[in-house]
Amino acid sequence: MISFYPGPSRIHDEIPSYVNDAAELGILSANHRSAAFVSLSRDTVELFRQKVGLPEDYTLFFTSSATECWEIIAQSLVRTQSTHVFNGAFGQKWFDYTRRIRNASSWSFDIEHNTEIAVPTELLGDVLCYTQNETSNGTQVHDQTLKQIREVHREPLIAVDATSSMGGVALDFNQADVWFASVQKCFGLPAGLGVMVCSPRAIFRALEINEKDHYNSLTLMKQMMDKWQTSCTPNVMGIYLLMRVLKDSRHIAKVDEKIRMRYQQWRDFLTERKSIRHLVTNESVHSYTVIPVSAEPDLITRIKSEANAKGFLLGEGYGTWNATTFRIANFPAIKKAEIRALMSFLKKF
Ligand SMILES: *Cc1c(COP(=O)(O)O)cnc(C)c1O
Repeated sequence: MISFYPGPSRIHDEIPSYVNDAAELGILSANHRSAAFVSLSRDTVELFRQKVGLPEDYTLFFTSSATECWEIIAQSLVRTQSTHVFNGAFGQKWFDYTRRIRNASSWSFDIEHNTEIAVPTELLGDVLCYTQNETSNGTQVHDQTLKQIREVHREPLIAVDATSSMGGVALDFNQADVWFASVQKCFGLPAGLGVMVCSPRAIFRALEINEKDHYNSLTLMKQMMDKWQTSCTPNVMGIYLLMRVLKDSRHIAKVDEKIRMRYQQWRDFLTERKSIRHLVTNESVHSYTVIPVSAEPDLITRIKSEANAKGFLLGEGYGTWNATTFRIANFPAIKKAEIRALMSFLKKF
């Protein structure tokens, strides 16, 4: 079965042998205060800077998931209120998680539109939250838009959920203060590890607020990460696998090129079909890493089950779009021949 599910998704072929290496090296039973762990953690961060283009002055943290990052931001970075600008289910969930912890306002927009830039004053909080790649409907917020957001809103911190794009497309980290992702999407790894990166401004805000009520309070995480450590025992195997996958991968600019080219192939392929199409008409907001395909509900059911029988796992439609779409991951670990095979199966629709 080849998984085109947009997370968890196809893992890199090398993962089993890396798991084996980790076991043989003894890293899986290493204490997380040991020199061996510290060295693994430092190497992983260093490789992340080299390969994913993380700026030198941004701090990387290991978390357990993107969901945990939503909570860390709410707990440790929001002073009075956060503002969530979104058009789909993951943006909505982030808003829902946050408002259980802090005051939060939301502003939604249509999937055919570009992200709203100027947030109305009455909604404006001290952390602005955007979903860079909305996995539920295959839309994205471009770097250029984030840059404009930053120009209009100088004061608030800008936090970006890049769970289904980081590691697949080149992100301009300098355009926001907090970015996070989990590794079961574009990194092609098994689930159970998240990464969160923070600008100097975000760290400054965390230290100013100095919230220390949780094991994952950002102040404590920062104190630990200054020693390349974590506040709880982390997913050491996940970190090891991330290190190995980063070591193997090409620079993000190259990966980005491949992903964009493959997105264009999917877009053109869907334009030529009779009974299936891209869910979103406005190409300028299309995600490069998640392709939502829309059709009549009966046909969606048929395609999913026939695909399954042929060994392709397609992503279910999400939320509102459950019955009328399926989703295709365009993640780096998926091979050219696998995409070709899926296209050849979908050709008859
Ligand atoms: C998958 C996903 C999440 C949730 O990730 P977890 O690792 O399950 O916490 C959050 N946001 C987006 C945009 C996602 O695609």
